[in-house]
Amino acid sequence: MSTEKPGLLERLEEGPVICAEGYLFECERRGYLQAGAYVPEVVLDHPEVVSELHREFVHAGSDVVEAFTYYAHREKLRLIGKEDLLEELNRRALELAREVADETGALFAGDLSNTNVFGPDDDSCRTVRAMFEEQAAWAVDAGVDFIIAETFSWLGEALIALDVVRQTGLPAVVTLSIHQEATTRDGSSPADACKRLEDAGADVVGLNCSRGPRTMLPLVAAIRSAVRCHVAALPVPYRTYEEQPSFQSLRERGFEGQPFPTALDPFTCNRYEIAEFGREAHELGVRYLGVCCGAGPHHIRALAEAVGRRPPASRYSPDMSKHAFLGTDPSLRPENQEYAEKL
Ligand SMILES: [Zn+2]
Repeated sequence: MSTEKPGLLERLEEGPVICAEGYLFECERRGYLQAGAYVPEVVLDHPEVVSELHREFVHAGSDVVEAFTYYAHREKLRLIGKEDLLEELNRRALELAREVADETGALFAGDLSNTNVFGPDDDSCRTVRAMFEEQAAWAVDAGVDFIIAETFSWLGEALIALDVVRQTGLPAVVTLSIHQEATTRDGSSPADACKRLEDAGADVVGLNCSRGPRTMLPLVAAIRSAVRCHVAALPVPYRTYEEQPSFQSLRERGFEGQPFPTALDPFTCNRYEIAEFGREAHELGVRYLGVCCGAGPHHIRALAEAVGRRPPASRYSPDMSKHAFLGTDPSLRPENQEYAEKL
């Protein structure tokens, strides 16, 4: 792109960079995407929904517009019998993201994700590499500022994605997804895996998805100590804890079955919990911050404000002093304020 906006690495040198994610979950919640296969057909069926969500996230403080090509890869399109739409879907998603990035001055990111067909054999490595190569080429054509490769539970798969991104010459953000056991599926600790990714040339390494703030932060602290490059942390906004450290493992008493992925609502973090995560991660020295599946614009704004930013949406951040019952404004009816505890 021919803009003069500072790039990702320059911005990270200056301070935190916020990246809103969670497009699959939010489009599903809004009724434009089917849970299960989780293919972002919304890009073609209702592009206006995707554009609006990009705008809402930037308004709320995201510095990055991430093209909605998560799970827009050959395996997912095969699964729903629509492989013929693969290129059109990718190119359209990139175009939608670029429009909003151009409008707002946000960074424009391409996205590669876990393929779900990786196993560490040669055949699957070749298949996975070909899937990344075609998506990365479309991202380059669209003029992305950098590429995010994310949600890998295999270090081996992340390394292939990184190699493909490195060949584009663009900055690479690579994030792993750590489930109940605090290792990658190929047995590395998150810190060791991130060190490997740094050594292989990643510009930013870290974690996204699966774990909520409380169970992701300790792993991120270990990563921060193990690498010299910038570190990323993008938890899911759910109240995970030691015994149930991933959002897939959360269980609710009285609810039959697994709340993941469509009944996680009662576990949702409030905005203050996300702000606390942002402050703590920032204090650890983590500069690339975001929220993954389940994120709403209110989470993104809270995260941005927690690290000292004031996005456009901050104009509407709460001012409870003027609340009819809970407020303190002297012009409010005192009887209402006295009634507050009976609300
Ligand atoms: Zn996620």
